[in-house]
Amino acid sequence: MTILVTGGAGYIGSHTCVELLSGGYDVAVVDNYYNSVPAVLDRVEKITGKTLKRYDCDIRDRGGLERVFSENKIDAVIHFAGLKAVGESTKLPLLYYENNISGSVVLFEVMEKYDCKKIVFSSSATVYGNNPIPYKEDMVTGDVSSPYGRTKHFIEQILGDIYKSDNGWSISLLRYFNPIGAHESGLIGEDPNGIPNNLMPYISRVAIGKLPQLTVFGGDYDTKDGTCIRDYIHVVDLAKAHLCAVAKILDTTGIEAYNIGNGVGYSVLDIIRAFEKASGKKLNYVIGDRREGDLPAFYADATKANKELNWHAEYDIEKMCADSWNFQKNNPDGIK
Ligand code: NAD
Ligand code: UDP
Repeated sequence: MTILVTGGAGYIGSHTCVELLSGGYDVAVVDNYYNSVPAVLDRVEKITGKTLKRYDCDIRDRGGLERVFSENKIDAVIHFAGLKAVGESTKLPLLYYENNISGSVVLFEVMEKYDCKKIVFSSSATVYGNNPIPYKEDMVTGDVSSPYGRTKHFIEQILGDIYKSDNGWSISLLRYFNPIGAHESGLIGEDPNGIPNNLMPYISRVAIGKLPQLTVFGGDYDTKDGTCIRDYIHVVDLAKAHLCAVAKILDTTGIEAYNIGNGVGYSVLDIIRAFEKASGKKLNYVIGDRREGDLPAFYADATKANKELNWHAEYDIEKMCADSWNFQKNNPDGIK
């Protein structure tokens, strides 16, 4: 059984490749290394003792994708490839629409041509916008605050239309909450280029001394300690959810969305304290202004994924922080 993983050298993709290879799947990766390096895939192979096929290819490159499908019998696709920086997307919306939406359309067209109609798509909790919490899959989506979020919403809608036009497709939309943590080997983890936008890589770089100070975005929200609440999930738990989703789509047709989160909300200060405990490091931080577009609090109702995918998150916040720190400590200059 061969799974094509687009964006497989990235943070979530690489952890998913580890789980797929360990689970006995053959894996082909397509990545243009825009936000990753090929060495990540060497490390995936080192962790698993197995090899994968790699294609240095952009998903917008139709000829390149056709080569992948003609050289392999792809049974299903897990589609991670995309740009994900919320702030950047407000400055460069066309880049985001072109890369994420046009790229996805090319991928879906090539899949159709090669009669591969099974896909797991990386969506995001951001599609829920300003809904009451906890978020549930049947809520109205699309009231999103950034071009990035809109790309996720639009791609979900496109996949919905594809299914309506051809019921032979089998589509799983995984709405991720906030992935943090790293593989416990310390070989792969979140390794963004430049100054991180997300909380955990920022904290890790402050702890290792690469950045001077963390700014907590807002201390005056109507939450238990004034800082924002999010649902953090260990990246290995998230990766395993993809295997559950693949098992399901290989077996059925249809389109379903699933929340992949722990169902528990932690504040930014909770995360700082948990990280300090896990790392034994005192974090230098200040409370600053709110970040534009941030919602005060959201977390998942993940019971649908628990029941229908038979997926359950295993790891707690201590393990998430310990593994993030272990990765940062072992790779002070990132993965080269
Ligand atoms: P990442 O940037 O680490 O991985 C994405 C990978 O896709 C990178 O290796 C990048 O080089 C590749 N890529 C980007 N554009 C490409 C293109 N046109 N052709 C081929 N490869 C391309 O990001 P991640 O955190 O692993 O996220 C994976 C997916 O999950 C993304 O679609 C992201 O939007 C989504 N997601 C992430 C989060 C999060 O917090 N990390 C939350 C919700 C959803
Ligand atoms: N955050 C912060 N300082 C940072 C980065 C993030 O206080 O340097 C906060 C942010 O306001 C949010 C939480 O940490 O409440 C998680 O932010 P992240 O960007 O990781 O995820 P998202 O906001 O997209 O859920």
